[in-house]
Parts: sequence; C-alpha cells; structure tokens
Amino acid sequence: MNAPTFRFAPSPNGELHLGHACSALLNQRLAKESGGRMLLRIEDIDITRCTPEFEQGIYRDLEWLGVGWEQPVRRQSEHFDTYSEALEKLRKTGLIYPAFLSRGEIRAYITEQEYWPRDPDGAPLYPPLDRHASAAHRREKIASGVPFAWRLDMEKAIAAVGPLHWNELSSNETISAEPQLWGDVIIARSDIPTSYHLAVVVDDALQNVTHIVRGRDLFAATSVQRVLQTLLGLPAPAYHHHKLILGPDGRKLSKSEQSTGLRALRTAGKTPADIQRMLDL
Ligand code: GLU
Repeated sequence: MNAPTFRFAPSPNGELHLGHACSALLNQRLAKESGGRMLLRIEDIDITRCTPEFEQGIYRDLEWLGVGWEQPVRRQSEHFDTYSEALEKLRKTGLIYPAFLSRGEIRAYITEQEYWPRDPDGAPLYPPLDRHASAAHRREKIASGVPFAWRLDMEKAIAAVGPLHWNELSSNETISAEPQLWGDVIIARSDIPTSYHLAVVVDDALQNVTHIVRGRDLFAATSVQRVLQTLLGLPAPAYHHHKLILGPDGRKLSKSEQSTGLRALRTAGKTPADIQRMLDL
C-alpha cells in the first residue's frame, strides 16, 4: 500500500495568490491528518511563460506560509522525455491524431455553424475536420512543417474506456466523468511533447500521488484526466476540489491581480495567521 501522498502543483507563470494558499495549506493539512506525504511539483511545461523568478517566488511564499514539502521537487520541464514516451504509447492506441487547424481556421469554421458547443472552460470544441484524414495526408502536412497539435479523438476514446468515475472527497460522492464535454482535447504540441493533462496524469502516477487536492476550477478537467489515466493504465487517485477563493469583485482570482497576491499581502503587513483567517480554513 502506498502512503497517502498529496501534492501541490503550481505553475510558475505568475505570483501565487490566495487561491494557491488555500490549495497548499489544505494539501498540507490533509497530508498531516492522514500521516501522509506532501510533495511540491513545479508545472513549468510552458517554457515561454514560466520564469525562474516566479519559481523562486513559489518557494518563498510557501515557506512564509509555513508549508513544507519533501525533496526533491519535481520540475516538469526536466521530464519531457517521460511525457514523450507516454505520448508514443497513446499514439500506438490510434486514438490521437495530428490536428492542423489554426485558431483563425477554427473561428472561421465555427462562425459558419448555426450552433457550436463550448468546453467547460468556454473554448469552442475542436472541429471534426482532420479527425479522419488519411495517413498520407497527415504525413504530407507534417513534412511540410506546418505547426500541429496531437489531439485525442474523444468519441473513440470514450468508446474504448467505457464509463468512468472518480471519488470526490469534498462531497463524499462518486462523480461520473463527462469527458465528452471537452471534445478532442490537446494532448501534445509539436514544440512541447506534452500538455497540462498529459503531464499531470503521468507525474501523479510516477510520484504515487493518491490524493489530488486542488481548486474547483479544475473539477471538470478531472474527466479528461480519468480518460488518460485509463488509456495509459495508471491508477485513479481520489480527488478533493475545494471552494474557489473569489476576488473583491466576486470573480475568480488571476495571477496578475495584485491585491490578493501573497507577496503583496505580506508587504501590506499580513501574517500567515491572517491568511488562514482570510481563507476560513
Ligand atoms: N498546475 C496547475 C495550476 O497551476 C494545477 C494542476 C493540478 O493541481 O492538477 O493551475
């Protein structure tokens, strides 16, 4: 049996805010209560937006908050080979395909439709145009150097894995996954051999993570991650999606919003105990 293992997995593409503090502190508390482990993972696959300064800021803010973690920290940018192997495994299933439409082409396709569905994050589903392209056409396009992304044929994937569920600890419920809401999600890009979803499921399994504690904004993403876990033969962790911390305007916090950034709060004289109170933890 694995020891209960928790992780906080921020992306160093901005300053940590109260929402991150909530995730980190809740992970730490649940790990302690279960006598489990607490890991920190730096999700820096987007090498154009992640910076060493933001990464240092994560360590500094967490230490200030009193959150501790096991060494070594896993940095995703150091493991592209591992994600490439998982991608290759998915390619062999025949369930992913190279998708060539640019944003402009997607937009043009959608404006021609009377109605076009959007995913839980509000982005239009990927049009079904290159899902059934011939192998020769794909080879030709790739050889021509046009940028492309690997996408999952979600309909086929759902048929392959069958109905999926997860254990949601925040409400003590079994949740039925609804991956169809996402359509053909991106699994990897031509320049980065992974995506958020692929790297997360691979790492959670490699690090023996048993409990995923994160904000409610990632609740819907769990459906996609359950599909990938199943296709790759990885274990299913339990999930706890906590309430979102909203800004003064009632909207989700963003990394660019100064007033709820941990560094700004610290500079304004707040203490870690004040943060705990503000979060109502
Ligand atoms: N890296 C993601 C973020 O900062 C969180 C990933 C996760 O907890 O699964 O939003």
